[in-house]
Amino acid sequence: MEFTLSNEQRAIATMVRDLMEGEIKPRVDEIEEAGVFPVFVRELFQRYELFAAMLPAEFGGIDGSLQTQCVVAEEVARVCGVSSMVVTNQSLGSSPIVSAGNKEQKEKWLPSFASGEKLVSFGLTEPNAGSDVRGLSSRAVRADGGWRINGRKCFVTHANVADLVVVFAKVKENGDRITAFLVETDREGFEVDKVEHKMGLKGSPTCSFVLEDVWVPEENILGKIGDGFQILIGSLNKGRISVAAQANGLARGAMEASLRYARDRVQFGQPLAKMPVVQQIIADMATAIEASRCLTWAAAHEYDSHSSDMVRYSGMAKLFATETAMKVTTDAVQIMGGYGYMVDYGVERMMRDAKVFQIIEGSNQIQRLSIAREALASL
Ligand SMILES: Cc1cc2nc3c(=O)[nH]c(=O)nc-3n(C[C@H](O)[C@H](O)[C@H](O)COP(=O)(O)OP(=O)(O)OC[C@H]3O[C@@H](n4cnc5c(N)ncnc54)[C@H](O)[C@@H]3O)c2cc1C
Repeated sequence: MEFTLSNEQRAIATMVRDLMEGEIKPRVDEIEEAGVFPVFVRELFQRYELFAAMLPAEFGGIDGSLQTQCVVAEEVARVCGVSSMVVTNQSLGSSPIVSAGNKEQKEKWLPSFASGEKLVSFGLTEPNAGSDVRGLSSRAVRADGGWRINGRKCFVTHANVADLVVVFAKVKENGDRITAFLVETDREGFEVDKVEHKMGLKGSPTCSFVLEDVWVPEENILGKIGDGFQILIGSLNKGRISVAAQANGLARGAMEASLRYARDRVQFGQPLAKMPVVQQIIADMATAIEASRCLTWAAAHEYDSHSSDMVRYSGMAKLFATETAMKVTTDAVQIMGGYGYMVDYGVERMMRDAKVFQIIEGSNQIQRLSIAREALASL
């Protein structure tokens, strides 16, 4: 297994870290306060070609490796969770096309996602279908040489700024079969009717949209009728590894902030960092983050090498890294005491942002169910 980074990946990590420190860090509070999609972040990422790390090389990507994507996601999230959503949502949204698109679909969409010229969202969740994705009720029926789609989706990241949404709907042919469709957001009948107010990731719009008799041509079906479930599961298996990398970034950012604080803050005549109880928290944070990264990169390696064990690794990486991020960000607030609780110091934002990663792309309870199932089956 490959736990180390190549020289090129190290160079990318350094470039992204410098970019985040120089251009985004000074504006993180602005992003948080505005609470809307940060257009300047997208433009910056376009200019520095960060979206290219999310796509395969043959369609304008850097090297198509998930480990490279993880490196970018981690470095971005270390400074700004919202910015990490800007870049990783492009990967989640394009995954169905990468895995199941035909030549025309790939050539039409993927290069513009790799450049960031166009944005894409992943439209799966519905009001009555969250963890239980088979319970979705959006429907597509054949009409006028194409498909007419009706339904409602909720909690879809960046649907209000996306050019395309991959929509999962049921087709009633030989039973109810989940099928994936490419839906351009300027089609008649597509309307984003709610942008949520959230605990964290405030600049990353989470949207509900309705599909009212939205017509798409036959060429907008992804794969075949009934392929949708495999397509969405494959995309989420990949997406979870990326979520783990984002969680690692948040954890690192919070730990670094709390270490700097602990080194400088003097109480009872000595810096907090010299106190054994604080050192114990620091040691546990550092160890958990390193273990999370190892598991995340191992999962990315399993994914990149098409290993049959990838699903297990993906779930374990997502579970471990996101639990770690929640604990580390909470501990970072604790180390910083009252100052940690204050908005000016940034770690309370990281703690709020970390929470969602335990929920999205398959909640951690769902990950535990599948990891336990695999462990029992291996006996
Ligand atoms: C900020 C944000 C962004 C999102 N972005 C997207 C997106 O881009 N595209 C998209 O399609 N969706 C998106 N989602 C939706 C997200 O994937 C779902 O919220 C998630 O899958 C959980 O579904 P739910 O919220 O309906 O919770 P539910 O499925 O109702 O679960 C509620 C609770 O019950 C637990 N639970 C459920 N079933 C079981 C079980 N069998 N055993 C034990 N516990 C169980 C869950 O773990 C959870 O704690 C986003 C959500 C958020 C909050």
